[in-house]
Amino acid sequence: MVDTVFFAELTWPEVEARIAAGAPVFLPLGATEQHGRHMALNVDVVLPTSISARAAARTGGLVLPALAYGNRSQPKTGGGPQFPGTLNLSAHTFSLIVRDVICELYRQNVRKIVTVNGHYENIGPTIEGIELALDAIGRDRARDLVILRVDHWEMVRPETLARIFPDGYPGIELEHASVLETSMMMALRPKLVDLSRASHDGPARFLPYDRYPKPSEEVPPSGVLSLTEGSSAEKGEWLLADCEAGIVEMIEREFRERVAQ
Ligand code: ZN
Ligand code: MN
Repeated sequence: MVDTVFFAELTWPEVEARIAAGAPVFLPLGATEQHGRHMALNVDVVLPTSISARAAARTGGLVLPALAYGNRSQPKTGGGPQFPGTLNLSAHTFSLIVRDVICELYRQNVRKIVTVNGHYENIGPTIEGIELALDAIGRDRARDLVILRVDHWEMVRPETLARIFPDGYPGIELEHASVLETSMMMALRPKLVDLSRASHDGPARFLPYDRYPKPSEEVPPSGVLSLTEGSSAEKGEWLLADCEAGIVEMIEREFRERVAQ
């Protein structure tokens, strides 16, 4: 059998055997979205895919191809739609893709599914997609199905955040393209980061309400919502290690009687 955690690198008999052996199946949920002048558009795809691969390697899991388009980028959490390169799905479309992939996995006898999200705006539509899948499969029939939904940043331990942000954590919404994402990208894909292009025009200061059409003046011109100063590959590795450990622990807890040996 091919030694890979990536579902789509296997043949169908290999996938069939891994599912029969009880492999948890990871679905990385990403976005193609601006991440400042200093990083590539694929940050929200690279991070959940890499974290899923690390957790899958330790739990006998398989990682599906990532959903590389995210729910509509918002100025407050991703810079919004005015940046070249940001490609948005509507929440409705995103939810239906999540629903259909889960239903297809269920049809193929997968009963342990983990969605690993890398894009803030995907949270609501992912929950809706999971609920729609349970409706479509039938809640009674789906009793043997367990779906775990994770936002990777929630797996970072408070001690690690305190080490990285001694002056206080700005919160994940403002962390777009900032120290967390930049550090993890420096650890995983250093060629896709060029800190010399970071312009330090943040942090963003948003009003405590939304107006539509959305004004773009509140978003720093670079697209970075907080600061990139202090990013490093070493900090990225601390963050990735927390994410990996948190997901492995979650899988061991939630799938205890289900994980095949
Ligand atoms: Zn991001
Ligand atoms: Mn994002």
